[in-house]
Amino acid sequence: MNAYSSFQKHLTDELAEIKSAGLYKEERIIASPQSVKIRLQDGREVLNFCANNYLGLADNPELIAAAEKAMHIRGYGMSSVRFICGTQDLHKALEKTIADFFGTEDTILYAACFDANGGVFEPLFTEEDAIISDSLNHASIIDGVRLCRAVRYRYANADMSDLENQLKVAQAQRFRLIVTDGVFSMDGNVAPLDRIYELAQKYNALVMVDESHSAGVVGKTGRGATEQFNLRGKIEILTGTLGKAFGGAVGGFTTGKKEIIELLRQRSRPYLFSNSLPPSVVGAGIYTFQMLEKSNQLQEKLHENTSYFVEKMIAAGFDIKPTQSAICAVMLYDAKLSQDMAARLLEEGIYVTGFYYPVVPKGQARIRLQLSAAHEKEHLDKCINAFIKVKN
Ligand SMILES: *Cc1c(COP(=O)(O)O)cnc(C)c1O
Repeated sequence: MNAYSSFQKHLTDELAEIKSAGLYKEERIIASPQSVKIRLQDGREVLNFCANNYLGLADNPELIAAAEKAMHIRGYGMSSVRFICGTQDLHKALEKTIADFFGTEDTILYAACFDANGGVFEPLFTEEDAIISDSLNHASIIDGVRLCRAVRYRYANADMSDLENQLKVAQAQRFRLIVTDGVFSMDGNVAPLDRIYELAQKYNALVMVDESHSAGVVGKTGRGATEQFNLRGKIEILTGTLGKAFGGAVGGFTTGKKEIIELLRQRSRPYLFSNSLPPSVVGAGIYTFQMLEKSNQLQEKLHENTSYFVEKMIAAGFDIKPTQSAICAVMLYDAKLSQDMAARLLEEGIYVTGFYYPVVPKGQARIRLQLSAAHEKEHLDKCINAFIKVKN
């Protein structure tokens, strides 16, 4: 036996185990642009209710034109990291645009928010410091914290008395950072930033908020959780993605206090050792934020859609998690039911995903829907009627 044959067996066993546990993830293939109405490879046209396309910008013609224009004037690729020869005027302009949008001092771009979170802790904190993290934080935060030598604390999701207890213990360290998602992706709840900020003041801690699911969605003008709680400019570190509400292409950022951003440019490994974002993405990114600066229409439509949908679903007898964002969890509790129901909904032309353990806690299976500004009333009604039909 060569080296690979025994490793191969190990892998096929592992894959078989994933399949027999019912946890194997199949990818459904789309043969159209990302949108509300998508065409699957088998020709079926379905309505999409599971994209992070909150503002409906993923196939927006103006963004496509902005991407084309930027590519035309600044080329296709950068072939460099930022600090060697990978920084164009466009990158600096997008960084400033993002800082203006969030009311922060400076911004650093990454290939993805996964990288922003992966590269934010290790350069800033050492074994003398403490990182206090919400138990439902995104995987990229968990991984980023693992790469850092700081002492780790965890508090139960949005549980402020638990956070306070952790903060008391963490007084033993030099600096403390509380880190939380702005909106939690499985329930759609918003982190109680007002109380987190109060506790941070009381216990001398810094705060970091990952606005990936909240930016463009929550806050009066879509500036995220910091806007919702009147904390613009007060949170030391924000991270976010261009891959959800803001066009959905790719790209991440950290924005906040200027000294933090300056040190990240010197030391953050995913920034130093990974390629610069391409001009098309950067140009369309600038355009996106400028567009949202001018009008709040898309966010308003998103909220109208969410309220309408949630109201109708509750009236139809569904068990809906109280949402504070554009995420709507239809609670089914039973894993198999969540899968069967999602499959039957697809037959009705509604594309949604069922989630169950270990993505959500045991016995908390659900279908998670994400509303979009691009949904029209008729789409929402079709979805609600399909739910009612497959329930019976
Ligand atoms: C989606 C998401 C990320 C990852 O963003 P990418 O830009 O796709 O890497 C990070 N954090 C949170 C909270 C997210 O929801």
